[in-house]
Amino acid sequence: MTYVSSKTRAAQEAGCRAETIHLSEDTAPRRLLEEVARANRDEAVDGILVQLPLPPGHDARMVFDSIDPSKDVDGLHPENVGRLVQGRPRFVPCTAAGILALLDAYDIPIEGANAVVLGRSEIVGKPAAALLTSRNATVTVCHSKTKDLSDICRRADILIAAIGKPGFVTRDFVREGAAVVDVGINRLETIEQAPAHLKQSPRIADAIARKGRALIGDVDFEDACRVASWITPVPGGVGPLTIAMLLQNTVDAARRRQGNRMDPAHARGDVRLDHP
Ligand code: NDP
Repeated sequence: MTYVSSKTRAAQEAGCRAETIHLSEDTAPRRLLEEVARANRDEAVDGILVQLPLPPGHDARMVFDSIDPSKDVDGLHPENVGRLVQGRPRFVPCTAAGILALLDAYDIPIEGANAVVLGRSEIVGKPAAALLTSRNATVTVCHSKTKDLSDICRRADILIAAIGKPGFVTRDFVREGAAVVDVGINRLETIEQAPAHLKQSPRIADAIARKGRALIGDVDFEDACRVASWITPVPGGVGPLTIAMLLQNTVDAARRRQGNRMDPAHARGDVRLDHP
């Protein structure tokens, strides 16, 4: 709900009309598909997004397949995924687009760089790897079955962590001078939920004591800072860019639906955002 209201607020600030349709947890899968079909037909709607995770019993893939690809501002319809992989993107999943925008904003060289993407989800790891490949990085994608993970990560000029494991990436994973992008957002409500090496962290203990929760990334920020040249914080790094790219996709969708040609830079996959 926090994430949905941030998106709604940002959309309204940018002058978009944003409508949230709340369906109860026991909503039948068919009813959700009908709701998507209604938004597909509605001429006043330019962009549709279905907030994950869905309750058990729903098939997320079937739901994303049912979204009109020209309104698929999350970039998860197979037509948009295929276009991205072919290097002629239309809607790029927002977090992956945000990562590239961030690297560009700080002039971090991508062409020829060794990039390691930790995680292979449809919404982050795979599209980030596709975008980096189209920008001529040499990309390695790692996942839960990868062997010698820290050795592979230590070869990265650009390391992207998107695994959903709090503080997993320590300095042992980071090459001296690397750029580290921490996508993970992990919510800890008690210090017991922290991994062993972070149980003594004053920052986490303090956040839990003050707010009842600590949000931490997949990277052990204080540790990785000692070797990285560039590193994104959590919260405040990739998260706001995800929302910015969602707005960009929505404006692109609206323009395209009005018959205008899309931004040529975006068409090339050369996604740029002015310095945030
Ligand atoms: P998923 O759970 O869909 O995918 C996690 C990926 O990490 C999988 O590919 C999995 O491998 C891999 N993985 C899990 N454990 C390990 C491990 N120990 N070693 C190596 N790889 C591992 O996660 P998401 O991609 O949806 O999200 C990742 C994180 O990013 C989460 O913390 C999420 O909250 C955050 N997020 C942040 C966003 C933002 O705006 N900042 C937006 C979206 C997500 P396998 O495929 O083998 O299972």
